[in-house]
Amino acid sequence: MTTRPLPDRSGVPAPRDTRLDPYVGSYAERTHQMSASAVRALFAVANRPEVVSLAGGMPNLADLPLDAIGDTVGRLIVEQGQRAMQYGSGQGEPLLREQICEVMAVEGIAASPDDVLVSVGSQQGLTLLTQIFCDPGDVVLCEAPSYVGALGVFRTYQTEVSHVAMDDHGLDPVALQEAITAGRAAGRRIKFLYTIPNFHNPAGISQTMQRRQQIQQICAEAGILIVEDNPYGLLGFDRDPVPAIRSLDSDGVVYLGTFSKTFAPGFRIGWVLAPHAIKEKLVLAQESATLCPPIFSQYTVSAYLQDYDWRGQIKKFNALYRERRDAMLAGLEAHLPASTSWTRPEGGFFVWLTIPPELDAEAMLPRAVSARVAYVPGNAFYADGLGTRHIRLSYCLPTPEAIIEGTRRLGEVMNHELSI
Ligand code: PMP
Repeated sequence: MTTRPLPDRSGVPAPRDTRLDPYVGSYAERTHQMSASAVRALFAVANRPEVVSLAGGMPNLADLPLDAIGDTVGRLIVEQGQRAMQYGSGQGEPLLREQICEVMAVEGIAASPDDVLVSVGSQQGLTLLTQIFCDPGDVVLCEAPSYVGALGVFRTYQTEVSHVAMDDHGLDPVALQEAITAGRAAGRRIKFLYTIPNFHNPAGISQTMQRRQQIQQICAEAGILIVEDNPYGLLGFDRDPVPAIRSLDSDGVVYLGTFSKTFAPGFRIGWVLAPHAIKEKLVLAQESATLCPPIFSQYTVSAYLQDYDWRGQIKKFNALYRERRDAMLAGLEAHLPASTSWTRPEGGFFVWLTIPPELDAEAMLPRAVSARVAYVPGNAFYADGLGTRHIRLSYCLPTPEAIIEGTRRLGEVMNHELSI
């Protein structure tokens, strides 16, 4: 029998328990920054049938035209299989990049397909951007709270997240200016502002047009790149899409888009629209990460956009989400303690609760799960562990009846905690 040589651990502090992972001394520094997100850890319990999960942010695919998509995929394989299953370009398929520009035009963006990179979901766009811009210790400005998946990427690349406060109209420009001034005075290298302007995950609020202009102006004057992450922009219930920040500035904004919420996440197709020089670097990073984004998925999304009424499909999704948003707001109103407040999203998937000061969302979670309701505690959305007075609730997946029942169970748990 041959034995595997042990990795060289000279100079590395002794691991706590080498029986669990004999390679613990060999990992790169950045690997030690990685940890399972609170959302992932929750999935196992939240997916039990008796639990109403208001935790995950999975899109509701109930209304997708599966037969039509099946026909499209079948035709693709028969008619273009050799091409659709071959390697493709690192930047992504030209036809899809053209169609992506049509999708972005809905939010006032005029862009050339040359400046678009197809990515493996917008999550990979975030990863590639962080990879090309951030050295350890660099600062990324983010809303407080911010998207848990982005915080994970920023942590992996050993950046320092500087949270910027939000108000009812989104990221607060005064707080943004202060964060830039303070960071610069401390000699920090601020690499970009990461912002989610529409139906924020997790805060459920949107930036007004005036707010977008202020943010763009502040960043342009300070020479700070804006990374605009916009998975939910077309998922508005009560309003037309607001022009993207990218529509105000093509040189200082990198825009991240995705088909995960407007079509389906399983294809893993997103994109990055970037100023030319940045796009060139992203293509190099993409080639070394994946050689090319999945070509079969690109062909499928492309055929879907060409053959199917995707705008009509988004309307159907929005009707479905609107009904669930209404159920959640009604349930919260009926069942939560009076000292709790929440945002009233006009689109997207999430409501953000501020709970009474006596309660701790993280500590309360096991009791909530025992009462058969799951949520994500607010601290998951802060790099600095703050946020335990907040809860993210999602209404995208459960039925309206289950949402109401979930809010009833949550109200019961909160009322019980407040009474002891
Ligand atoms: N950004 C935000 C704000 C999100 O909510 C999500 C999905 N939860 C993503 C990016 C990633 O989406 P995907 O990789 O599926 O495109």
